[in-house]
Amino acid sequence: MHVELSVVVPVYNEEDVLPLLVERLRPVLDGLSTPYEVVAVDDGSTDASPVLMQRIRHEWPQFRVVRLRANAGHQAAISAGLALARGDYMVTIDADLQDPPEVVEQMLQIARSERVDVVYGVRSDRSTDTAFKRGTARAFYATMRALAKTEAPMDAGDFRLMSRATVDAVNALPEHHRVLRLVVPALGFPSAKVTYRREERAAGSSKYPLSKMIRLSLDSLTSHSMAPLRLATWFGLIGGVFAMLIFAYALWSSFTDRAVAGWTSTVAAVSSVGAVQLICLGLLGEYVGRMYTMMQGRPTYFVAHDTDDLHLHDVAGS
Ligand code: UDP
Ligand code: MG
Repeated sequence: MHVELSVVVPVYNEEDVLPLLVERLRPVLDGLSTPYEVVAVDDGSTDASPVLMQRIRHEWPQFRVVRLRANAGHQAAISAGLALARGDYMVTIDADLQDPPEVVEQMLQIARSERVDVVYGVRSDRSTDTAFKRGTARAFYATMRALAKTEAPMDAGDFRLMSRATVDAVNALPEHHRVLRLVVPALGFPSAKVTYRREERAAGSSKYPLSKMIRLSLDSLTSHSMAPLRLATWFGLIGGVFAMLIFAYALWSSFTDRAVAGWTSTVAAVSSVGAVQLICLGLLGEYVGRMYTMMQGRPTYFVAHDTDDLHLHDVAGS
């Protein structure tokens, strides 16, 4: 069966939400008059969610369930769903109804009419999030903007539509700790935005404790910015220069009779070895950084489809 739209939903201990999700999502998707499927990824839930999902599956033929053996985290759960979904378009949406299902229809319309590959859901209003969540989110996006030169739209979470081409490109990336909201913009597909009002969690409590938020921030920073590594390089180089100065001073003081016997040779040995080590460490950091970006395998440029009238002989100037 041809599937036009796949809706990927990560589910982690959402027994309170699942019935509500079905109640709201199903009418929207049935109303699209488009062949669709829902790919619910059970991210190692330990409550009644797996049982509920099996029950839903029997009543709703388009509802597919993927069960992960252990809790792999929000991003990994979405990645698993994207790898298994079959649609021409895919929408990732939270299970807790904070992302209104009605917006899915709008996203699909925009993707078709504007012929874009990605439609970001941008939160116009986050007043339903806690002040803590809003504050940390603002700090997160500001830091990523400053350090990572990312094109990621502000306040866009993981509620987004992607074309088959985009998802194929995402799936092909070898990266393990993918932060999709940063990886997708980095792939450079034509995109549009739709703003929506972030709603209150329909039931249950957040599955994103501080520890998981920190994990996500660290993954974002280390996979989209060389800044921490560069910092190590600079520390190494600056420390190395200092060590060389100390070496020079130790030599100089041995000629000026200021030094205690034995001091010069000790300091000279320590500081010269230190200088060499620190500078080499910095250099090593640069190479490690380059290997890392190569391994991530993200595109370094994007060729747009409408430039294929440029042939080789044009480049050669004939
Ligand atoms: N989630 C998941 N695995 C996790 C944590 C969360 O699959 O380890 C799912 C969760 O079930 C929900 C979505 O990710 O569908 C967003 O989580 P949540 O609503 O708890 O995050 P918040 O909105 O509080 O940031
Ligand atoms: Mg939520």
